This record gives sequence, structure tokens and C-alpha cells, in this order.
Amino acid sequence: MNSRAQAFTLGRPPGFIYRQTKRQTKRGVPLVLYCEGAALPSLAERYGTPLYVYSAAMIRQRYEAFDAAFCGIPHTVCYSVKANSNLSILRLLAGKGCGFDVVSGGELRRVLAADRKAASKVVFSGVGKTQEELTAALKAGILLFNVESDSELSALAECAGRQRRTAPVALRVNPDVAAETHPYISTGLHKHKFGVPINDARGLYAKASGSRYLKVCGVSVHIGSQITDVSAFGEALARVAQLVRQLRSDGHRIDYVDAGGGLGIAYENPDHENSGGEFSDYVARYAQALTTPLQGLNVRLLLEPGRSIVGPAGLLLTSVIYRKQNDGKRFLVVDAAMNDLIRPALYGAYHEIVPVARHSRDAERSEVVDVVGPVCETGDFFARDRELPEVQEGDLLAILDAGAYGMVLTSNYNTRPRPAEVLVTGKSSKIIRRREKVSDLLRSEV
Ligand SMILES: *Cc1c(COP(=O)(O)O)cnc(C)c1O
Repeated sequence: MNSRAQAFTLGRPPGFIYRQTKRQTKRGVPLVLYCEGAALPSLAERYGTPLYVYSAAMIRQRYEAFDAAFCGIPHTVCYSVKANSNLSILRLLAGKGCGFDVVSGGELRRVLAADRKAASKVVFSGVGKTQEELTAALKAGILLFNVESDSELSALAECAGRQRRTAPVALRVNPDVAAETHPYISTGLHKHKFGVPINDARGLYAKASGSRYLKVCGVSVHIGSQITDVSAFGEALARVAQLVRQLRSDGHRIDYVDAGGGLGIAYENPDHENSGGEFSDYVARYAQALTTPLQGLNVRLLLEPGRSIVGPAGLLLTSVIYRKQNDGKRFLVVDAAMNDLIRPALYGAYHEIVPVARHSRDAERSEVVDVVGPVCETGDFFARDRELPEVQEGDLLAILDAGAYGMVLTSNYNTRPRPAEVLVTGKSSKIIRRREKVSDLLRSEV
């Protein structure tokens, strides 16, 4: 199927689908992209563009599919807050019983603000946790510290000692497994800054168990992000399982294996993993790869998915400001830019882009364009040499699969206020982050 035909039939059910409308235009009656029961043109009118739009049903459905895939083993899903940290999204997930993986004191604050009682399901990861952050997490009473170095182990013992508390500890081990992904988001090789080499782990566990303020209780691993070949996870977990056996024979009590996150989504092939039914097959294969090496170990499995839960559940809605041509090369200049969604500029990432209104095939002509933003950087693009149905100035485009690592990576570069975020449930939509104003940006400066 070519990409034009796909765009008519696909979208991202149940979140994003084209529906027939009654609205008559010059080119006939268009199909319009909806988020659940809300037409995107109405959202654009009401809230302006650029605008992040999320489907609550889709987040719920993906969380449920993820959770269900692991029903054969005791587990806790700890959603990775850094993928999308909006309070309303955290609250939605907390309401379903989801736990959280945080990588900073700020993220911990968000989780506690979303749900005061969530601390007991929080794991804290990251290579550079400060004493202040460790202390806050100890006070909150989190489930697990994923410690990444000898020095951090000492710092944690010191903070815990000061508070006369015991810190539950797992070491994040680096299994030295290569995962096929972008080099910036691969983390499981010895050359990366993350974790401790799996071969040094036993010594550090011995040190940890020697501290009365640390309680060794798990092993954790996270090999990278946007990994679609599930066998890499299996390989990492096989090494972890072997370590768990060694540690137990050394006399440690290991209750948890934290498998991290990193399950990729199908940015380029939307009718693959992304749709509701097929995501459950995909996540079942992932669960199989993870749990097979853990058989007989009798551990609780912790999971830290981020992208695979929220990625396809969000899109970035943008308007075409100008069409322009330089020596035959065509550009669509849109009102979103790299400061609003940096993934293409940062990783050369691919995002499917579709017009919000589609016309019948004969009424539609396609063209090859670059979709670019207004920021003064050549890297400010969303697509290059992309075949798209012809759109006019003022038309809306949807940049799909922008629910993860979209809003959280926004900046104010070029003094551009950050976009608003809207959460849709059925026909109703709610602003979950108001659009920034230039005055907001100036306020904190002298
Ligand atoms: C980023 C990160 C995750 C989430 O990764 P996804 O690819 O979004 O699933 C999970 N755990 C840790 C430690 C991370 O750094």
C-alpha cells in the first residue's frame, strides 16, 4: 500500500481516526482527522496551534495491553515519567494502578503531586542523583533506588544513615548487550555512562550489604530506547538472571528484577505495532522474551515503559504558515518548530505527517516537500523530501506519534513560547498545560 492510501484508512485507532464530515469545501466533502470524538480542526480553533493532542483512551488501552502481557508473572509497571511528564497523564496512569520510574527529584515531585500515595510504586534511576534528590526520595519512601555507581552507593548510605532509614537498593548493571537503535539512545554497552559493568556487580553488592542503611533487594537493567527487536531484551535478561543466581548464592536476597524500558514503536509503519489489537501481540512477544530467562527465579518483575505507552497516543497539530519554493524545491513552513518537537533534529527521527483534512483520491494531488519550522537552524525540519498530499496555507497538519519525548523535550529557543497540551476523552477535551506566553519567558529574567 502506498502512503496516501494508508493515510485514509489508518490513523491511530482508537485515538486518531479519519471520519466523514458534513462540512462542504471547494474540493468536496473532506474526511477529517479526529482524536477520539473531537475533530482536530475544532481543537485548533479553540486552543490554537501548535498543539499537543493526546487520547486518554489510547493511553489507557496501551497501559492495559502492557500490563496484561505480563499477567503470568508478578510484576509492577512503572511508567517512565521522562517520556511525558504531564500531571494529568501521570494521574490518569496512577488511577489505573500504574507505578512510576523517575530520573530526577523534579520528576518525583510531579509523581507525588499527581498522586500522594504513589511513592510506594516509584523506582528512581539516573547516573547523577544528588544528595538532595536521594534524601527527598528516602523521605517519600520509594520502592527502589536503581544505583549506578560505587560513589552513589556511598552517598545513598550516608543520606539514609542521616535519616535513620533503610534504602531499598538495586544496582543497575550494564549487560554489555548491543541494541539496534540510534546511538544517542543506546545505553547497554560498556562504553556508555550508564550502570555498573555486570562483572563488577558482585563486589558492589557485597559492599552494599555491608551497610546497615542499605537493603539489597534487586537487580536492574535498561539497555536503551526505541528497540524493536525484542531478542535484545531477552539477551540482557538472561545475563541478569545469571547474576541473580550468583548473588543469591553469595547470600543476598533478591526480590526484584527491574527490566527497564525501551520497547520501540513503529514510527514508519503505522499499521504495524501501533494499532490497538496488534500492540497486544507485539507486547506479548516482548513479555515472552523478558520472562523466559526469569523462569524459576521467583522474582517480581519491574517494567519501565515510556514511549510504548504514550508515543502513539499523542500528536502535534500544526498549521501551514507559508508554502515556498527555492529553485524547484518545495517547502511547507509550519508554525511548529524544533523547539516544539526536537526528535527529527536531534536523532534524524521519522514522524508520519498527515493533513488533517483529506479529500477523495481524484481531488487530491501529491507533491514532494520539506516540512520545516520557523526557527533559524537548518536542522529545524520535521520531514525532508516527503511525499504528501498537497495542502494550502492555513491548512492543518498532524505530526503523528509525538506523545513521547515531544513536550518534555521542548525549549524556548528563538524565544518561542511552548505549545499547549490537550487531553481528549471521547468528545470532551481538556487543556492540561496552558500555552506559554512570551511574558512567562521574560518573567524569570533580570
Ligand atoms: C528512558 C528510560 C526509560 C524509558 O524508556 P522508553 O524507551 O521510553 O520506554 C526507562 N528506564 C530508564 C532507566 C530510562 O532511562
